[in-house]
Amino acid sequence: MAEERHLTILGLESSCDDTAAAVLSRSASGVLSLRSSVVVGQTALHADFGGVVPELAARAHAEKLDHVVEEAMTEAGITRNEIDAIAVTAGPGLIGGVLSGVMLAKGLAYGLKKPLIGVNHLAGHALTPRLTDGLDYPYLMLLVSGGHCQFLQVSGPQAFVRLGGTIDDAPGEAFDKVARIMGLPQPGGPSVEKAARSGDATRFALPRPLLDREGCDMSFSGLKTAVLRQRDQLVAAQGGVTEQDRADICASFQIAMRDVLAEKSRRALALAKGITAFAVAGGVAANQTLRQALQEVATETDIRFVAPPLALCTDNAAMIAMAGLEKYLAGAVDDMSLAARPRWPLDQTASALLGSGKKGAKA
Ligand code: AMP
Ligand code: MG
Repeated sequence: MAEERHLTILGLESSCDDTAAAVLSRSASGVLSLRSSVVVGQTALHADFGGVVPELAARAHAEKLDHVVEEAMTEAGITRNEIDAIAVTAGPGLIGGVLSGVMLAKGLAYGLKKPLIGVNHLAGHALTPRLTDGLDYPYLMLLVSGGHCQFLQVSGPQAFVRLGGTIDDAPGEAFDKVARIMGLPQPGGPSVEKAARSGDATRFALPRPLLDREGCDMSFSGLKTAVLRQRDQLVAAQGGVTEQDRADICASFQIAMRDVLAEKSRRALALAKGITAFAVAGGVAANQTLRQALQEVATETDIRFVAPPLALCTDNAAMIAMAGLEKYLAGAVDDMSLAARPRWPLDQTASALLGSGKKGAKA
């Protein structure tokens, strides 16, 4: 049911360590325009702790959310009265942060007498290529971030089939742990990628976990442990690690990660049905070696490859506004009973694969 009037959606995101608000409009003829997207990160706040501290994150969200909303509206040049609906991440994520967002959204919806739409954070990531590249359903999405890793067949704003996912760590988590093991700064992804540039990826034979198992489930915790063991062996043999050792380990790790994700993508593409494209999202999608490998896999299968701009690959509220818009157009709005959910699997029929990780509860 397509609405034939101009719509403006305010999106809110606070499920991990980014406080974000965005304004998205859709013209009567269906043309989308992202009018603002404000993201305030908390990296410095958690820097001393080696990971996101949920309580600190929740307090920071509660303090910053309304300022971020004001900024997003100012940047978009709109007043509160021009908002037609409020979309908010209602899970999965760190519950304190999700609650902060849901409470603010409820207050706004109540005060403005506008509909409230609870959005699944993962649906936000998965629907981003609809906003950035106008993809048609169905398409295959590889979500690779600090807290998630899954292949989804996306067939509609609320129709997701998980084809496979990690059974332990997320790739971003593995990059971050490898950085820690090798004494490189956080976030680990960019520092490992940088170190790997001057490294020899063939020097250390690291495992490619689960490649021997059918399907597209993945595992990355053994890979991280193999890096730890390799480092300890070097330390035992030569009393420490050199710059070159560090670069070689990072390159060997990155190539193992690339091989696993590329091969599992090949299998996911074989399992997906009638798709228009293969898209990737999540912070790890910034990795050039990985991006190139995924592009090649898509080319092999003659499928269009889409990687949204990085600012819309990592956590943001534009994707929440987009997912909210699609739910709104489908008539799926919530009321004041909307709950904040630490866990919220996108594909309710798939069995649970994951435990709890650095970035909070996973789905
Ligand atoms: P997100 O969870 O989507 O906010 O993304 C953050 C995660 O992406 C962190 O674990 C980062 O280490 C990871 N990441 C960011 N840039 C890169 C990169 N260039 N290569 C690999 N991982 C990255
Ligand atoms: Mg995310």
